[in-house]
Amino acid sequence: MQEEGARRDPVEIDYSCLFVNPVGQRRADFQSACAGVFSQLRVASGADQARGLLAREPADLLILDLERCELGIDLGPLGALVAEREGKPTLVLCPFTNARWLPALMAFGPIDYAIGPLREQQTRALLDARLRAGFPTPGAPSPVEEELRALLALRAASQQTLIDADDSVRFAERLCAAVSGWPGVVHAALFQHRDGDLHLEAEQGVAGLHLMALLQYEGRLLQSPLRHAFPGLLAAATGEFTLLDAPEKAGEPELAASLEGVGVRMVVGLPIPAQGPGGPRGSLCLMFDHARTFSRAQLQALDDLAHLAAYGLRMAEVTRENEALLARVTHLATTDALTEVANRRHGEHLLEQEIKRARRYRLPLALVAFDIDRFSQVNDSFGHPVGDIVLRTVAETVRALLRSSDVLVRSGGEQFQVIAPHTCAIDGLKMAEKLRAAIEQVEIPGCDHVTISLGVAQLGESESGDSLAVRVNAVLGRAKRAGRNCVELAMS
Ligand code: GH3
Ligand code: MG
Repeated sequence: MQEEGARRDPVEIDYSCLFVNPVGQRRADFQSACAGVFSQLRVASGADQARGLLAREPADLLILDLERCELGIDLGPLGALVAEREGKPTLVLCPFTNARWLPALMAFGPIDYAIGPLREQQTRALLDARLRAGFPTPGAPSPVEEELRALLALRAASQQTLIDADDSVRFAERLCAAVSGWPGVVHAALFQHRDGDLHLEAEQGVAGLHLMALLQYEGRLLQSPLRHAFPGLLAAATGEFTLLDAPEKAGEPELAASLEGVGVRMVVGLPIPAQGPGGPRGSLCLMFDHARTFSRAQLQALDDLAHLAAYGLRMAEVTRENEALLARVTHLATTDALTEVANRRHGEHLLEQEIKRARRYRLPLALVAFDIDRFSQVNDSFGHPVGDIVLRTVAETVRALLRSSDVLVRSGGEQFQVIAPHTCAIDGLKMAEKLRAAIEQVEIPGCDHVTISLGVAQLGESESGDSLAVRVNAVLGRAKRAGRNCVELAMS
């Protein structure tokens, strides 16, 4: 088709053109391909030269070819040229990887654009078509107003997804669902960098369109051979707004064929900005069933969408960080640092809870208290660090023997308690005897064997936690007086 376009009769409209690009070879190529299209074709290497030529003689059409231009250096001067056009057509030829130039140039004045790379015949056909149909009249109401309204509705729907953005995957799924409602979008996907790789967090699209299958890649996404070609990956890797208005322009015939095969005619990659310096957080990738152009307002709305995605993902991240922090603080507040068992305050709380549960379900509850025998001698003979090892070893040994529903508490220096739900006095006694026997057997590095003395009490019918603790400590004292390394049971 393009070949035919190139062979068409020259356009009869009398049009003069000024073509601007910094590379001599590109200017020469354009001249040889397109000179016949215009009544007069001049070329300039940059904005200054172009301004001089335009001052001498205006041009009906200004073509700014952005290939090899640099946004930081060239945007201002080229933008000024756009601003000075005052209504005359300007066509911007923009490489698909640099689409962020478009909204930046649109800020200076109305432009028409075409996405590159374009082969010579394609450029020629494009110009023929534009000259025949006429360039969009700057300032005239945009024919895509309706779609803009749809986009604004989409943005409102996307904002809704922020409510409850406490999980990044769930947020990504809802955002993709909202975005895929935009007219022409057949698939929406969200990629995010985390744990050293890029992840496809969510995708939503017509049945049978699965991105990972389409990309035919199962390894690390950042190492995918298509990371320089597929807009979703490219935008996430480089932070560039990427606009591929014809799949074959990416230079990957196989990918182009796959995209065409599932009805995709255009792919947009929107980088999702990260907080602070460094690369982007990820990208939003939209696939359309037709190639289309965007107005400045639409590009702005897409940019807003990417910022909204950034905000939602950040909120989810903050929520995750807060949850982790809360879990850490809770752990610190409830756990004894030396032995990693429940600390005294948390133990008291857990005992109250278990007492309530035992009352409600009319189940027995036993409390076992134990104390390491002659522990001060361990410290005196082997030193405090060895004393600490003894405490840890005793706690580990006991914990390994308990049921998962039992709770071990460090109630004081070398004193512990076991809260044992569903346990009557006799079973508590058996458990205490098992613990006693195990501790006297256990090998402790750097120290002799140690023993423990234990007291056991079953919760009385309307007894409080404090009273139970007093009773169990009393029988523990009895065990000490009875000669240590033994168990005493409190009578109910
Ligand atoms: P009894 O058989 O009567 O229980 O004698 P005991 O020596 O074990 O009891 P006493 O109450 O006289 O001594 C308890 C010792 O436990 C004193 C204290 O220094 C030591 N202790 C308490 N907490 C820690 C700790 O975290 N690490 C170490 N290494 N020792 C501790
Ligand atoms: Mg002791």
